[in-house]
Amino acid sequence: MSISSPLLNEGGTKENYSFLVNKQKAFFRKEQTKNVSFRLAALKKLKDAIKVNEQEIMAALKTDLNKSELDAYAAEIGFVLAELTFTIKNLSSWVKTKSVKTPMTHFGSTSYIYSEPYGVALIIAPWNYPFQLAIAPLIGAIAAGNCAVLKPSELTPKTSEVLAKLINGLYPEEFVSVVEGGVETSTALLEEKFDYIFFTGSVPVGKIIMEAAAKNLTPVTLELGGKSPCIVHDDANIKVAAKRVAWGKFTNAGQTCIAPDYLYVHKNVKDKFLSEFKNTIKELYGENPLRNPDYTHIVSERHFKRLEGFLDNGQVYSGGKTDSDTLAIEPTVLTNISWDDLIMQDEIFGPILPVMEYSHLSEVLDGIHNHPKPLALYIFTENNQVQQTVLNSVSFGGGCVNDTVYHFVSPHLPFGGVGPSGIGSYHGKGSFDTFSHKKSVLKQTTLFDIPFRYPNFKNGLKML
Ligand code: NAD
Repeated sequence: MSISSPLLNEGGTKENYSFLVNKQKAFFRKEQTKNVSFRLAALKKLKDAIKVNEQEIMAALKTDLNKSELDAYAAEIGFVLAELTFTIKNLSSWVKTKSVKTPMTHFGSTSYIYSEPYGVALIIAPWNYPFQLAIAPLIGAIAAGNCAVLKPSELTPKTSEVLAKLINGLYPEEFVSVVEGGVETSTALLEEKFDYIFFTGSVPVGKIIMEAAAKNLTPVTLELGGKSPCIVHDDANIKVAAKRVAWGKFTNAGQTCIAPDYLYVHKNVKDKFLSEFKNTIKELYGENPLRNPDYTHIVSERHFKRLEGFLDNGQVYSGGKTDSDTLAIEPTVLTNISWDDLIMQDEIFGPILPVMEYSHLSEVLDGIHNHPKPLALYIFTENNQVQQTVLNSVSFGGGCVNDTVYHFVSPHLPFGGVGPSGIGSYHGKGSFDTFSHKKSVLKQTTLFDIPFRYPNFKNGLKML
């Protein structure tokens, strides 16, 4: 049944990739993937295989990122199993052709929207949730009836290997195939003419992807990153805010695209919040997080060094220690930070939280508006008016009121960025819609003809 083609891994040639894409195109033309039972069977197979290989997936995540079993299950395996269950349950209704209204001017005709697969999709995944961010888009691609080539991140090689073994062992390569490799592989794949490209990763690489897609006018989804603000207002429930911000920021050692990147805290509650926050970090990660066996490490030495370079910004309020042998960095809070500091120039993507204080909400809104539209935003306040002011004023991908990160795991909330933080969205039905072209069709009667559109329209309604 399965084909893991070594030629397609790092070092694969352009001919290999062209061969694979053409093979998938030929398979797509056979229209088997348009059959809903085919898609459901493929999704069920994937669900079963993930369950069977749970231990192997968790072990790979431990090797690559020192992810604890809890984190690996909740944020990677459990998440995709839930997406699979939801998709399998609802797919038969999502695929139905939708009958829509027809205006009086189109009397005699009926209107429909068909959800059709694009064809052959390319999915490029990052390293921070290397299993989930590869499989979740694949679920959408399969559900919508596409073939797919999936390229995992080279920075988490063990997970990449497990993905290749799992997927290439499950499906024939003309339907779905994992191609392992780094930038060279990605670049070579991007030279092929795909029908859809789904990319998750950084903003600079997102621009490279969009440029490559533009050459063939290939539609894209770009799931990118950026600096996601978190605001703690003066009336916030401080204890709850401290816990939820600490969890959202430090889970996966801050290597989460929607982690609160920086914190704006009202000056009246700053001291109370910071002291509560420090205690919460201790509760969650212990006295010495660097020795906590379940604390996620930084993915590579390059990223570790980049993050270490931020530790002399402002003042270390708590944390600040690092271990270069294990590439671990303590959950760290920096105060006395301004927008001029190095740490405020780009997405942090690590366990360091810079804190700025404010007196008026307008300072926060000005600060956010002067920077690219964020992927996520979090506001902690009990005041409905403050919530509405922030939600109405700031454009951001998605977010939470009085929580962090949790919006990501609802299949009813399409997830994505806006402008510089991303284009398009997915999750739940959103994934099916993302990988489906919505084809609008008008079915016209031939029993009569309304002549107004024709140059000699004086003759009135004409029976044909
Ligand atoms: P990255 O952009 O460096 O890499 C992502 C993928 O692109 C990898 O598979 C990599 O091999 C490939 N790639 C890298 N350079 C390339 C190039 N020049 N040409 C073609 N392909 C290339 O991102 P990353 O470091 O793996 O992930 C971190 C970034 O991803 C952060 O910015 C984070 O915010 C973002 N992210 C976003 C989401 C989201 O859902 N919006 C989720 C996770 C991560």
